Amino acid sequence: EGFENSGLRQFVLDNVRKCGYLKPTPIQKHAIPIIVQGRDVMACAQTGSGKTAAFLLPIINVLLSDQRDLVITSDHTEPHAVIVSPTRELTLQIFNEARKFSHGSIIKAVVAYGGTAAYHQAQQVMRGCHILVATPGRLLDFVNRGRITFSSIRFIVLDEADRMLDMGFLPEIEKMMNHPTMVPTGERQTLMFSATFPEEIQRLATKFLDRYLFIAV
Ligand code: AMP
Repeated sequence: EGFENSGLRQFVLDNVRKCGYLKPTPIQKHAIPIIVQGRDVMACAQTGSGKTAAFLLPIINVLLSDQRDLVITSDHTEPHAVIVSPTRELTLQIFNEARKFSHGSIIKAVVAYGGTAAYHQAQQVMRGCHILVATPGRLLDFVNRGRITFSSIRFIVLDEADRMLDMGFLPEIEKMMNHPTMVPTGERQTLMFSATFPEEIQRLATKFLDRYLFIAV
């Protein structure tokens, strides 16, 4: 069985096939239809499980249905989806998959990570984007400078949440989720992915997600 019954539109299915994905992995099989239907999801899945496509495909699908214009002003930009992940390598991987899956559409993805000059990334961000893939520190840096607001958020993804906590990123995550411009739970979809499900992660899921479905693969 392929991706045909996942609820994804033909455009997304075509791009999935072009990437050489013939069959959904277990996390994709379970998560994609639920996210397309609009639910919040807490998923326990390892790297290598195909979790990146499990959140990117439904996000791209929904953003394409939305057809909302990007808000780009001279001083700030309002992404429709923010994907936060712990490392530069992961953000680049997610960004590259996002570009492949949205290729040929209006969807624009931008990546921002620390450890390198912010200037070029800031320029990219300021041109506007539907999907922003970022590490927590660099994201907060842009937010604190007023470059990014969360008023148009449709999706938030916290990827490798347990690893982000281990790396000490909880304050940055809290600041993003509690930002004055942040769209409230219920008016957005929040997706959390974590390899493990310890108490701190359960607490975060309860705090940030709205009547979420739990998936473990
Ligand atoms: P991830 O767990 O998202 O880091 O994905 C692990 C690797 O599996 C990546 O290189 C993906 O490109 C690949 N992958 C993800 N889903 C599929 C699929 N349905 N079929 C084949 N390869 C996939």
